[in-house]
Amino acid sequence: MKLIRFGAPGEEAPGVVLEDGTRIDASEEFSDYDDSFLADGGLKKLREWSRTERDEAPVVPDTVRLGPPIARPSKIVCIGLNYSDHAAESDMEVPDEPVIFFKASSAVCGPNDDLVLPKESTKTDWEVELAVVIGQEASYVSEEEALDYVAGYTVHNDYSEREYQLERGGQWVKGKSCDTFAPLGPFLATPDEIDDVSALDMWLDVNGERKQDGSTEQLIFGIPTLVSYLSQFMTLLPGDVISTGTPAGVGLGEDPPQFLAPGDVVSLGIEGLGQAQQTVVSHPEA
Ligand code: ZN
Repeated sequence: MKLIRFGAPGEEAPGVVLEDGTRIDASEEFSDYDDSFLADGGLKKLREWSRTERDEAPVVPDTVRLGPPIARPSKIVCIGLNYSDHAAESDMEVPDEPVIFFKASSAVCGPNDDLVLPKESTKTDWEVELAVVIGQEASYVSEEEALDYVAGYTVHNDYSEREYQLERGGQWVKGKSCDTFAPLGPFLATPDEIDDVSALDMWLDVNGERKQDGSTEQLIFGIPTLVSYLSQFMTLLPGDVISTGTPAGVGLGEDPPQFLAPGDVVSLGIEGLGQAQQTVVSHPEA
C-alpha cells in the first residue's frame, strides 16, 4: 500500500495510490496519517477501506500538491556516515557504532516543494536517503523483532548546510534543520510493497546531471540494526523517521566542492519508492 497526503501545506488530507497509479482521497474515513493513526491499527483499517471503497472514493487530480506522506513526526533521527564511500569523500572514518544526530521536525515538507536556501547560505548540499517510518512504540527491541516496528519506507533528501554543520561549532543539527530541509515522499510504501529493502537502487540528479548513484546494499548498519540500536537510547514513537544515511556523490565531496544556487533543480528517487523533485529558491528575506 502507498500512502500519500495531499493539499495545501499544513492542511493535507490522507489518500492512497492504487496499483494503477490513481490517487484516491481517504479523508472521509481517516483524519490524518499521524501517531494515533499508526498506533490504533490504522494501516490495517486503511488497507481494508481501500479494498472495499476504492471505486467510491473521490480521485485526487494529478495537479494537487503532495505533502509529506506522514504528519509531522515527533522526531527525525538521522544516521551519519552509514555508507563507506560517503565517509571516505567526507574525510571521516567509518564508525564502529552508528553515528546519530537529530533533524528538527519543522524541516519536513512535501516531496516537490521548493528548497528554500537559508539566509546567507553558501554551502547547501543534497543527500538522497532511504527513510524508515516507525509504526509502533519501540523501546529496547531486538534486531530480530525490529522490522515488526516499521510502518514503511519513503524517500528523504537530507539537505545539509555544510558551513552550519561543520564550521560553526557544536553539533550537526545546525546544518540539518532549516525549513524545507526534509522533503519526504512522494509516498509512504508499506513493507509488502518492497521485495528487499536492503537492495534498493537510489539516485540523485542536480540539473539533470547524475550526482549520486548508490544502493541500500552498501549500508554499513542495516535497518534492523538501526531500529534496535536507536531503541536502546530512546523510545521511538509511531510516525518517527529514521533517515538511514547517504551514499557518495554529495556536493561537499566534489573537487572543488559544489553547492546549490537559486534555480537549481534537484531530482531524486529510490527503487520502488518513487521520485521527488525540488527547485532551489532564495530565502524570501535574503
Ligand atoms: Zn544524511
